[in-house]
Amino acid sequence: MNLILLGAPGAGKGTQAELLIEKLGIPSISTGNMLREAIANGTETGLKAKSYMDNGLLVPDEVILGIVAERVAQPDCSRGFILDGVPRTLAQAEALEAKGVRIDHVVSIEIDDSVIEGRMTGRRVCTKCGASYHIVANPTKIEGKCDLCGSDVAIRKDDTPETVQKRLAVYHAQTEVLKDFYAARGLLRLVEGNQAIAKITDEILEKIGARV
Ligand code: ADP
Ligand code: ADP
Ligand code: ZN
Repeated sequence: MNLILLGAPGAGKGTQAELLIEKLGIPSISTGNMLREAIANGTETGLKAKSYMDNGLLVPDEVILGIVAERVAQPDCSRGFILDGVPRTLAQAEALEAKGVRIDHVVSIEIDDSVIEGRMTGRRVCTKCGASYHIVANPTKIEGKCDLCGSDVAIRKDDTPETVQKRLAVYHAQTEVLKDFYAARGLLRLVEGNQAIAKITDEILEKIGARV
């Protein structure tokens, strides 16, 4: 099962991806997490991506396509994968299609812009594994420590109100059009994002025909 999670920044893609990994037994590929790791490790990809990310802009398509193509070719993706935060432009979607990356369902987590700021100001992410938490809606069990790996959680550098507004504008200008692209292929599944985390997971599983 090859899935894409679409949605505005803060819609809950990363949160749902973590839960779906367990339910579906397939890995999640988060380009945001991969890029943050590349920056932390000072790699060439990280150097290319940093200024775009800090400014809330999209990293160039060729950088993204390189890291995704490499990742989906790894053996743990042979039974399926969840793409979290990619594709994000028409060019990325077309390139995946041209490379023969088969997609079964595209889940768009629908959320109103007005809800996003509260989500982002409360977001904390694991500095090691990238898991996403919220100080009110989804706190870590031990304060400041990731439930999954025990590392420190922190505020993301690009989660300031100004950068969040910019990222939302970028979403509407460059990413939202992917809903039409995948609807035309019969793959789009809409899920209401402004409800409890577990209910969203249930709704996704139902819409992709994987209710267990
Ligand atoms: P969010 O989950 O809040 O939407 P991500 O972690 O997915 O944020 O992305 C953070 C930043 O990483 C983006 O603002 C962008 O700069 C970069 N990025 C991540 N994925 C992509 C992509 N597929 N194409 C271009 N840029 C990306
Ligand atoms: P994305 O990957 O789409 O940018 P995240 O999964 O990181 O979004 O979620 C953004 C923030 O909102 C995080 O702090 C997360 O804990 C919180 N969050 C995610 N889903 C929900 C939900 N259904 N209700 C309330 N808060 C949520
Ligand atoms: Zn962690």
